[in-house]
Amino acid sequence: MNSKQQGVTVIVIPQPTVNGPLHIGHLSGPYLAADIASRAARARGDRVLTLAGVDVHPNYVMTKAENLGVEVNEMVAGFRAQITTAFELAGIGYDMFLDPEDAAFQRAVTGMLSELVASGTIDMREVTLHACADCGRTMHHSYVVGKCPICGAGANGLSCEPCGGFTSAELLVDASCARCGGSLRPMPVTVPVLPLEDYRAYLLAEWQQADLPGRARVALAHYLRAPLPDYPVAYPTDWGIECEGQLSGLRVDFPTELGLSYLYGPARLLDPGADNLSRRVAAWDEVDGVWHFNGIDNTFYFGVLYPAILAAAGVTRPLLRGATVNELYLLDGQKFSTSRNHALWADEFLAGEDRELVRLYLSWDRPDRYETNFTRASYDAFCDYIRPLLAGTVPAAGRLPVELAAAELERAERALQLSGFDSALATRCLLLALTAGAGADSAPLAALTGRS
Ligand SMILES: [Zn+2]
Ligand SMILES: [Zn+2]
Repeated sequence: MNSKQQGVTVIVIPQPTVNGPLHIGHLSGPYLAADIASRAARARGDRVLTLAGVDVHPNYVMTKAENLGVEVNEMVAGFRAQITTAFELAGIGYDMFLDPEDAAFQRAVTGMLSELVASGTIDMREVTLHACADCGRTMHHSYVVGKCPICGAGANGLSCEPCGGFTSAELLVDASCARCGGSLRPMPVTVPVLPLEDYRAYLLAEWQQADLPGRARVALAHYLRAPLPDYPVAYPTDWGIECEGQLSGLRVDFPTELGLSYLYGPARLLDPGADNLSRRVAAWDEVDGVWHFNGIDNTFYFGVLYPAILAAAGVTRPLLRGATVNELYLLDGQKFSTSRNHALWADEFLAGEDRELVRLYLSWDRPDRYETNFTRASYDAFCDYIRPLLAGTVPAAGRLPVELAAAELERAERALQLSGFDSALATRCLLLALTAGAGADSAPLAALTGRS
């Protein structure tokens, strides 16, 4: 099937932040979906490289450790172990695990950033960031809170959950320190800045050709009217990878780290010897598309920042093929909440359940187009119904006529393509086919259940 040299599609499973374990709401969103889509693509004979990992450097991690009163590295190790256990128990596979605690990963990220500054692609500029007038923390990400400049919703200095817009401390309305309540004071600094407006033509080409959901397009449409921000890619703060050389004293902005890691990961797989920017960029000649699975609130990042970082590095063909987003999954009608302990932790839940049934249920109930709701009763009823079908027992009544099974299985297979990905539909089609005694060895069943 692969006799012609076919281009590689990079599939990005977002890296969970290590400020808590994964709950099944997370699993039902991008994580399982990306794994199912990767497995289905491989079964079709497509060349895919799937990236996974953990995200250690958002300052949400530091905030969490300080709130819990625990040592941050110990906390990171514990949550990281729970997250990777959940991946393993859920059967979430990948070609590369992006490990921000790995020295080679850190060297690659800081090295690429230094090269981009040395070549003048990223300018050193005097800009005014903000610090807390009371506690002195640099105001970014979890350390700052205010109102979204686009829709007015409450937001940290990262992105707005309702509208997906970009919300730095400099843009937030009525911003204050989220850690101590202090007011903001201007902090003039000289830092590397990526002028995103310079990439407008390239980004427009990306948005035009990419297969993006309507809600992501609405978020991006803001930037058709408004200028794209100047984006500081490193700055003085107390959490994140420390820069070297000309940039010493600064730490890498964590979304910038993610953007650079999406360049580094595929390059490392395609050309293991690549150890500088130009060789990594050359390795990308084999890539013909990038597909992100993510929450809608990250639209600015997968739609603007990550493509702009690739372009700044020298990968200038529009490669954003598309994105699959999801809505929230509820638990007994309420949002999952770590602070209220209203959650079903993925590692604990999976340890006591049949992985295949969990994957099928979360696919069947996936919150892709609207919020859906997990209840134990519904999960149990689903398992009771599907267990005999998976074992090859067809029901005495209510079976699908066998003549219709092939069409159901074909629809299931098509629903697992990246474009128009719909694992809830695929699961329904598969269930019907199983009632007809068909589909036990089908590609959709293998992808959905995680059978290799
Ligand atoms: Zn403060
Ligand atoms: Zn907003």
